[in-house]
Amino acid sequence: MTQAHNRAEAGESLTSVEAHLAEILGTVRPLAPAELSLADAHGLVLAEDIKASTPLPSFDNSAMDGYAVRVEDVAAASEQAPVTLPVVAEVAAGDIGAYALQPGTSIRIMTGAMLPHGTEAVVPVEWTDGGTARVTIRGKAEHGNAIRLAGGDAKAGEVLVSSGTLLRPMHIAVIAATGRGTVQVRPRPRVAVLSTGSELAEPGTPVVPGRIWDSNSFMIAAAAREAGCVARRQAIVPDNPEEVLPAIEDQLVRSDLIITTGGVSMGGEYDVVKAALRQLGTIAFRKVAMQPGMPQGFGTIAVTVPAAREDTADRSGLAEPVRKVLRGDKAVEDKTAPAAVAEQVPIFTLPGNPVSAYVSFQVFVRPAIGALQAYDQLGLEEARAELTGPLRSPAGRRSYLRGVLDRSRARVTPLTGQGSHQVATLGKANALIIVPEWVVQMTEGETAEVLVLPC
Ligand code: AMP
Ligand code: MG
Repeated sequence: MTQAHNRAEAGESLTSVEAHLAEILGTVRPLAPAELSLADAHGLVLAEDIKASTPLPSFDNSAMDGYAVRVEDVAAASEQAPVTLPVVAEVAAGDIGAYALQPGTSIRIMTGAMLPHGTEAVVPVEWTDGGTARVTIRGKAEHGNAIRLAGGDAKAGEVLVSSGTLLRPMHIAVIAATGRGTVQVRPRPRVAVLSTGSELAEPGTPVVPGRIWDSNSFMIAAAAREAGCVARRQAIVPDNPEEVLPAIEDQLVRSDLIITTGGVSMGGEYDVVKAALRQLGTIAFRKVAMQPGMPQGFGTIAVTVPAAREDTADRSGLAEPVRKVLRGDKAVEDKTAPAAVAEQVPIFTLPGNPVSAYVSFQVFVRPAIGALQAYDQLGLEEARAELTGPLRSPAGRRSYLRGVLDRSRARVTPLTGQGSHQVATLGKANALIIVPEWVVQMTEGETAEVLVLPC
């Protein structure tokens, strides 16, 4: 990078966190919905309204194990003067036989079993002697006692789970209860994570002075999974501009989102990610008014894939990449490819310091992962808490400081060791304390905004 370029960068004004995030959310398009088995839908975002196909429950049934009776026949029953009725049949859950209750008799019935025609109430087994041929009943039952009426939970055609809902176990239960075996959902975004840096070594291998083990790619892939993605971590890319673009290109066709770390700092010949991607012209590198995480890069890479691959059938990320054309100076013409469709794959180039990369992920990438699924609730939960100690922050930048939040007491303790390389401190945090751009210090006892880290 030239000196002139460095000077130009140094003079760049800072972009606000909101402006950077707004550009990201204005760019990322939701993935096309896919029809998935209900068994695979947990944690995904629903892309259709689920309506009750029948009333719920769909037939009148018993809420308890007991005896189907007519109210008049047990009206006189009490502890002192029990009533005895013949038991003429037994209905279990799932029994589809048509039973009819005659006056002066009872039918033994189980929870969830269809009510015999003519039933006015169910006497719970606890009020009886549990008899099978004859039953002695020690209490009277009102009309409708222990009966679940058809439609008492939902009417046919009622919307039970709305499009855009992140499917949690109870939603899965509701959908199953409507009889649906498959649902339209946004597929789990496929994320490729690459860390760059010639100083990086694979954990599990020996490391020499001057080198460090790569923690970012494992962390970011884990954070992406935590946010609902299928994430793959790629091998470390050294600080060689010639290797960066091919490494990214390799991931394009099988990824919905690419995240790199390192190589985007304040200028210099080792900023290989910036150097390699700048030539594409579709990725903006800027300084965001935050700490940590000032150098941010975001944009899209156009990739054309054969039309046949446009379906969402193979989203496992395991398939071999197909031929593709990377747009830009490094474009590779693929004349053999059949009719092709262009896709824009969003890419984040996060700073290399682990804390910077982590904070950047939570503040910018997590909401973008939500946008890929047409879901706007993926940002971290915000809370307010009283500071147990003082803290400082640079003027004009929003700080995200590592802290330990005690939710029950609404107190947050800033950790010591707030350097953006201090991964050990990051490991102790469960919250990020937000210090606004215009605040340079806060004292013990003041109330701070915090972001609650996912757990
Ligand atoms: P860079 O953004 O490439 O200038 O890196 C900034 C700092 O983060 C340097 O001290 C790097 O050694 C460190 N760093 C970069 N990538 C990683 C990584 N994958 N894991 C741990 N530390 C990293
Ligand atoms: Mg580096």
